[in-house]
Amino acid sequence: MDKDIATPLRTRTILEKYGFSFKKSLGQNFLIDTNILKRIVDHAELTDSSGAIEIGPGIGALTEQLARQAKKVVAFEIDQRLLPILKETLSPYDNVKVIHEDILKVDVEKVLEEEFSEIEDLMVVANLPYYVTTPIIMRLLEEKLAIRGIVVMLQKEVADRISAKPGTKDYGSLSIAVQYYTVAETVMIVPKTVFVPQPNVDSAVIRLTVRKEPAVSVKDEDFFFQITKSSFAQRRKTLLNNLTSQLPNGKEKKGEILIALEHAGIEPTRRGETLSIEEFARLSDELFAYFHQ
Ligand code: SAM
Repeated sequence: MDKDIATPLRTRTILEKYGFSFKKSLGQNFLIDTNILKRIVDHAELTDSSGAIEIGPGIGALTEQLARQAKKVVAFEIDQRLLPILKETLSPYDNVKVIHEDILKVDVEKVLEEEFSEIEDLMVVANLPYYVTTPIIMRLLEEKLAIRGIVVMLQKEVADRISAKPGTKDYGSLSIAVQYYTVAETVMIVPKTVFVPQPNVDSAVIRLTVRKEPAVSVKDEDFFFQITKSSFAQRRKTLLNNLTSQLPNGKEKKGEILIALEHAGIEPTRRGETLSIEEFARLSDELFAYFHQ
């Protein structure tokens, strides 16, 4: 087996050979610890018939570990300067395809159809660029891609918010949005020392297992998410205050909002952070008629 890319020495040698300088604006913090990489891949539970989708392969540290476990790997990289490097570092693996695209712009569904037509089990595995972790995760989930799940490294603070339970300080509209589509768990806490350059924040790995059906069934998904966002607009305000100030004509419709809260069995003085996802679903279904006539 070839020598791993993700050792400090090999990484430095590759970067020097190509005169590569990190772009902070692209969230370039490369992993230089093979053990951590292997553990990330283990959490994805890949088999030799799985497909892996990677976002931001960098110089191929994680890509290589994925290529050894999965049947095929497709990696999206935005930085053109990395393409010749990846061509060299990944040359021992004939089951990897690198696509030079921005993950937020590319038609992911089309690529998956083209590249994984014979593969049923698909996982997204990545060490995400931290400046866009939330938009990337939300895009992958909202597109309702045919994937089993997502295992990604991200800022610990965002991992905490994603997997937070009601009644905690980290619980908010992001927790609900992600937990609506998936079962979310933090599976690793990762020290700064395993990256070059070291990021300013602590990191964690989360595993999101896509649910067969969303956690709750609602009349209108967009409206449900609008209600959750409105309810957390100002965390110290009551649910009633947030809803009246955030919803269109909310102040004039205060009476209707109170009726909806009563029908949903929710005290108007509660704060958004105390509501379970089921309570948000009941509330948005009760409010729906009053805001869509
Ligand atoms: N996978 C490598 C590793 O673990 O060492 C690199 C991870 S680094 C945190 C993030 C990578 O994502 C960089 O290679 C960066 O160029 C790339 N990237 C940043 N924004 C991107 C985007 N919008 N689409 C695709 N790749 C992106």
